[in-house]
Amino acid sequence: MEKKLILTIDLEWYYNGDKDGNGYIREFENMTLEERFKYDNGQIEKSVRTILKTLKKYKQKITFFCLAEIDKVYPRVLKMIYDQGHEIALHSYRHDELKNVKTLEDDLKKCEVFRKKYKILGFRNPRIKALKKQYSSLKKFHYKYDSSVYGTTIFDFSGIKILPVSVFPYKNREVQKIPFSLNTNLFKEGFPFGSGMFVGSLRRLENIFINLFLKRYQKPPCIFLHSWQIEQPFYPKKFILKHPFMVAYCLENKNLLEYFCKNYKLIRVKDYIYE
Ligand SMILES: [Zn+2]
Repeated sequence: MEKKLILTIDLEWYYNGDKDGNGYIREFENMTLEERFKYDNGQIEKSVRTILKTLKKYKQKITFFCLAEIDKVYPRVLKMIYDQGHEIALHSYRHDELKNVKTLEDDLKKCEVFRKKYKILGFRNPRIKALKKQYSSLKKFHYKYDSSVYGTTIFDFSGIKILPVSVFPYKNREVQKIPFSLNTNLFKEGFPFGSGMFVGSLRRLENIFINLFLKRYQKPPCIFLHSWQIEQPFYPKKFILKHPFMVAYCLENKNLLEYFCKNYKLIRVKDYIYE
């Protein structure tokens, strides 16, 4: 039997430090869309072209969680993804932290045009952080599923399907909690092998977790990579020193993507949810 995998891509800006070259990331948050676009210098298009080419070669269709603002400056890129039969889901308007109902609803309002344009059904909060009380807002804005928590298998909450980014618990049981993000408690319960950081640094070893998960739960795990983990930008030494976790993100994952395409049946989230 073909092994299924829900490999998703978070389509977002890369950032490798402020203009002064000291490795800080203070400026990113306040940059205008035009400034971000200029800073990006084609990185998004470069990553997406390689991702799409690889998916096409193996006839695979997947889900991209995208920042809505990217469509304003890279409309061609989003259209390409959509026209090739992949699913577009939402990863917020511009990757601002959405820590309460108000910030989430303001953000979702800004994304309405984008949601309708690409018939979006799914949402993933930046930094994969969701609060229970935010789910009624997702429902209000017509979202059908969410992938903003870590956990094991799919569950329902407040009329929304929740597909967690995969964790492999040390004990054989389900983890279906809200909120549940990358914090110390999570590591006490299991290993979040679905996180882009681990997918990109474990590489082929990631298979061990995928297979353990498939065997235990008989359901496909959900993992993700960021768009910028494929066709990597350059990261200056000063930036890495200030953000040591970025070491895990500094490996090129083009071949890894190809490996997943070759060895698994990749599925779009919407197909999984309605299968
Ligand atoms: Zn993100």
